[in-house]
Amino acid sequence: MKFFGKNNDPDLSWDKNAQDALKKAPVMVRSLVRNKVEQMVRDQGGDKVCLADFQLAEQKYRNMLSGKAMDSMKGKMPTPNEPGAPMVVFSSCHNALAGCQNPLIDTEEWIQAIRDWSEVEGISEKLREKVKADTIKFHNKLKISVSGCPNGCSRPQVSDLAVVGFSKPVFELEECVGCGDCAESCPDHAIIMEDERPVRDDAKCQGCFNCTQACPAGCITLSSRGGRLMAGGKLGRHPHLADTVGEYASPREVMPVIDKIVQAFLEKGREDERFADFWIRWNRRG
Ligand code: SF4
Ligand code: SF4
Ligand code: SF4
Repeated sequence: MKFFGKNNDPDLSWDKNAQDALKKAPVMVRSLVRNKVEQMVRDQGGDKVCLADFQLAEQKYRNMLSGKAMDSMKGKMPTPNEPGAPMVVFSSCHNALAGCQNPLIDTEEWIQAIRDWSEVEGISEKLREKVKADTIKFHNKLKISVSGCPNGCSRPQVSDLAVVGFSKPVFELEECVGCGDCAESCPDHAIIMEDERPVRDDAKCQGCFNCTQACPAGCITLSSRGGRLMAGGKLGRHPHLADTVGEYASPREVMPVIDKIVQAFLEKGREDERFADFWIRWNRRG
């Protein structure tokens, strides 16, 4: 039996035992499990999925999920204020784990660039030195997240700093049939139809690719992709959604901007002030 995954690769076949094991997976995650198993077998150069492959991939996936959950839990726990205490909490959406087809940027590349900068600049220790209390709490830490697309599964809107993948659509309407599918597909109501032609409102467009996929005539293509930097999001007693700082084509372009913002916080942030409160105060200074 052959399954046709999202990449429509027909090369893999499944033996009967592996098929039976897959059928026992809950319907909601069956397609995800199938993709993960096939990805592992392809990576190993195989062309057939057997029960052992299925069990190995399932175990790897469970381990990865529990490892991510553990990292996330550790980042939220209070820790003694002593040298080496981790002060930067990184998170990214789980597009690779989930087999998500939406990422517009390589989230691992962007988060790694931010990690590298943090390590080279000693950001964690510099942040720790600003905290005078004996215990470091979650709000003392700098939360940085990366999401592969505007759906924002890593909650960029409530992160101190965040990068969100985007790609603005380009309309070439020679073949447009005026169907309006693009306008209907837009979650942000950024397209209206005027005289049977789509008109896009750039201010509303978040840069996903729903309209690109929806167009039956191939009139909409993706422009170059990049990351939208956001800053100052927080929950708590006085929630604040992160502001958009700018759009950048690569990690190399965004890193000087992140560095400038964090260095300003280190220099001008008040004692025990959380980053988002500093950001709001800094931006209101006129
Ligand atoms: S943020 Fe986008 S790319 Fe990342 S998991 Fe969510 S839908 Fe997929
Ligand atoms: S890219 Fe997304 S947000 Fe922008 S117009 Fe198309 S569907 Fe709407
Ligand atoms: S979906 Fe394509 S063909 Fe239909 S109105 Fe939009 S641009 Fe034109």
